[in-house]
Amino acid sequence: MPYYSSEIYNKNPELVKYFTSAIKDESKNVAHCLLFWGGDTKNQCELALELARLLNCKKDGAIDCDCQNCRWIREQTHPAVKIYTRLDFKESDNGSDDEEKSTGKKNINVAQARAIISELLVSSDYHRVYIFCDRDEDGNLLPLNQQNFPEVTSNALLKTFEEPPSNTTFIFLTKDKTDVISTVVSRAQAFFVPAVNTQERDYNIVRNFISDYWKKERSAVLDFASEMQNLVSDYDEKIVFEQMQNYIFEKMREYSADKNLFYKFLRDLKYVEEASRQASLIPPMNPQTICENLSFKMLLS
Ligand SMILES: [Zn+2]
Repeated sequence: MPYYSSEIYNKNPELVKYFTSAIKDESKNVAHCLLFWGGDTKNQCELALELARLLNCKKDGAIDCDCQNCRWIREQTHPAVKIYTRLDFKESDNGSDDEEKSTGKKNINVAQARAIISELLVSSDYHRVYIFCDRDEDGNLLPLNQQNFPEVTSNALLKTFEEPPSNTTFIFLTKDKTDVISTVVSRAQAFFVPAVNTQERDYNIVRNFISDYWKKERSAVLDFASEMQNLVSDYDEKIVFEQMQNYIFEKMREYSADKNLFYKFLRDLKYVEEASRQASLIPPMNPQTICENLSFKMLLS
């Protein structure tokens, strides 16, 4: 099933642009573990494959580059770029374990984890990219969750995630960060990948509060914080923060020619991401503290 599509440049231009500049600029390396979350797994996979292409390209990474790495990735035959699901595992890889046939297999199991670990013992000339997700028998991509990517598998790979060999990137595709176990989340740099369908990029709840926030006076910061806190107490904070990210994404697209603003939006996305993480801790952090910290970062930094 073909998953690569250069359409990703039109679908998520902000993230492609971010990864392109991160890879080109040596001081801004891409993290070893990345977690993409959002409602559209296929879209996330396209982004992951494009990132793999940028990491492996032998030329300048141009969208129409015809180097062998780029061609292989477009054809999904690259030897070091793998989409890893519970179904992508041959019986022969799995010596003695007769119980788990690939058909009906419920999860990415420890044997698969071990296969990855031993594969990584051999050095590679390529930049290895492992994309972890799920799929059905027809090849439709599905997000990871705690059933198809269980804790025991993640534990087997923990050291590898922490200290991977150089030129190795792990990418996890999920619907929501809480769907994967915390050992993965805490080691990965998370990116919200908005669904392509613009109706899903809704920001109705936060529209009035966040509108043109970067133009606000510094003195407005406490009002901004208390409005945010009202929203967080009226709605699920996850929705509030997600809608704030939707808004910032839209502005990134609108102002993509303004480099300073573009990077401000990118930083703000990370701040919102961090606030969302703090709100989902158990026990959660005080909402007032979260909203004030976030407001100070967005308006004063
Ligand atoms: Zn290339």
